Amino acid sequence: MSTSKVETVDIVIIGAGFSGMYAIHRLRHYNVVCLEAGDGVGGTWYWNRYPGARVDIESVEYSYGFDETLQQEWSWPEYFSAQPDLERYANHVADRFNLREHIRFSNPVDSMTFDERENRWHVYTANGDQLTCRYVIAATGSLTAPNLPPWPGREKFAGEIYHTARWPAEGVNFSGKRVGFIGTGSTGIQAMPIIAEEADALYVFQRTPAFCMPSGNRPLDEAHEQEWKANYPERRKQMLNTYGASLVNYADRSGHDYTPQERADILEQAWNSKSAFQLLFAFRDVLTDAEVNEMVCEFVRGKIRTIVKDPATAELLCPTTYPIGGKRLCIGSGYYEMYNRENVTLVDARTAPIAAFTESGLRTSSVHYDLDVIVTATGFDAVTGAMDRIKIEGCDSRKLVDKWVDGPTTYLGAMTSGFPNLFMIHGPSTPAAQAQMITTGEWQVNWTADIIDAMGRDGFTCIDVTPEAETEWAQEVEMVSMQSLHRFADSWYNGKNIEGKKGGLMIYVGGFPRFAQLCESAVADGYQGFVRK
Ligand code: NAP
Repeated sequence: MSTSKVETVDIVIIGAGFSGMYAIHRLRHYNVVCLEAGDGVGGTWYWNRYPGARVDIESVEYSYGFDETLQQEWSWPEYFSAQPDLERYANHVADRFNLREHIRFSNPVDSMTFDERENRWHVYTANGDQLTCRYVIAATGSLTAPNLPPWPGREKFAGEIYHTARWPAEGVNFSGKRVGFIGTGSTGIQAMPIIAEEADALYVFQRTPAFCMPSGNRPLDEAHEQEWKANYPERRKQMLNTYGASLVNYADRSGHDYTPQERADILEQAWNSKSAFQLLFAFRDVLTDAEVNEMVCEFVRGKIRTIVKDPATAELLCPTTYPIGGKRLCIGSGYYEMYNRENVTLVDARTAPIAAFTESGLRTSSVHYDLDVIVTATGFDAVTGAMDRIKIEGCDSRKLVDKWVDGPTTYLGAMTSGFPNLFMIHGPSTPAAQAQMITTGEWQVNWTADIIDAMGRDGFTCIDVTPEAETEWAQEVEMVSMQSLHRFADSWYNGKNIEGKKGGLMIYVGGFPRFAQLCESAVADGYQGFVRK
């Protein structure tokens, strides 16, 4: 039994990633404490320091907009910033806005319980801190809890094993090593081309091939930067009015409207646009019309067959089982080209799945590979993983993991019924990674902070959402998902990347403007779906 003193504060924020950091700033007129598991700020960009880690949205967009001076004074070196620059930016913001005085590092939340008599949360950390607060804001991130498939024999392997989301700060020396790499999602496609340059041999264990578009990353040119800086307030507003809160060119014509040659030209332009994700918006219906989607898939397969010299390898790299964009499109540099290197071997881990780690390497169902290092880029127990790892007890001692056993249920992705005064940022059934997460995170923090401010003004101490509102929200999430092709891909979006994980599509694919409008109108219409007392 801990004897440490209970501290009384107004708000506990969980996580000092980009949303948590902004929440500290926005809510600092209260007594705010932020509890962070890592020993630095930046969340995703603190943990994911693997070689090649880089954002896939232009940095002029993927940055804070809440302070005009900050966006004027900061300069990004490249169009798509690398992890060290994003972490440097997070640290700059933490220092510039004195956020650290509110953050307790290396202090993960272990459990929290809601006291219905007092309308307060009691929060307990792994380090023994005990806090009581009126509100908790879980800015725990969508991609926080690493997924480590339970292959037998891990402990036997005599070499080194790494997960990309827990990369050592001092880096890893691959020179002269035989490296096994598992995972060909956004992370793998970024890390592997760099590792391949250093390693003696790289064996890529691929279960599902990825669609990958070239990022076209380059040093940020001054004219582009100045043009953004001259228009930032306007641009930020425009971003929030687009599907993905990002200013790619959203076509307004269908793929069916063109001749094959015209389509090929448009797709070629999108491929070379140096604007990540442009392929998905080259026609207005790439994500909604299966035939148009297949035209884009076939275009990318054509690219793979042209780039990769060995026809058998090229064929194995061609995705055929899901629509492009159904899971996150990968944005890379030299990924397909990497397979032309003599030291890179593609292993089909679909027909011969990984069976076990051994003392000297890795065994698939048909072959043993001798390895010195194994890198797992096997993704995350996404969306719910970070919350599930905290023991959260709401009203009537109900546990959140029990409530969400068949999949997460929320209202507007912000709250879940029976767990009052607990707000989530980028929670289940928000647009999350379907929209640019710094800008939309700021938006959600502002919306949440306005609700909290109004609670005090209106004399309330408890806010919950109704089960009926959750059901209606689930119907909205389902309705928009039926209009898109996301449901046809197995990925972290629907939890199918984790064996046994239940629930449908866990992100909102109706576009950020519709999401924001529904959130705003719920509050404006007298807190529809909420109960305040
Ligand atoms: P991911 O997309 O979930 O990919 C995980 C990979 O591991 C997949 O190829 C998966 O194969 C493979 N895998 C998992 N379990 C396996 C098993 N038992 N055997 C063989 N292979 C297995 O994870 P991620 O690459 O870390 O990316 C997650 C998300 O993070 C992205 O979608 C994106 O939103 C974000 N991200 C963004 C950036 C960026 O901004 N540039 C970079 C990295 C990540 P299957 O497909 O067959 O399951």
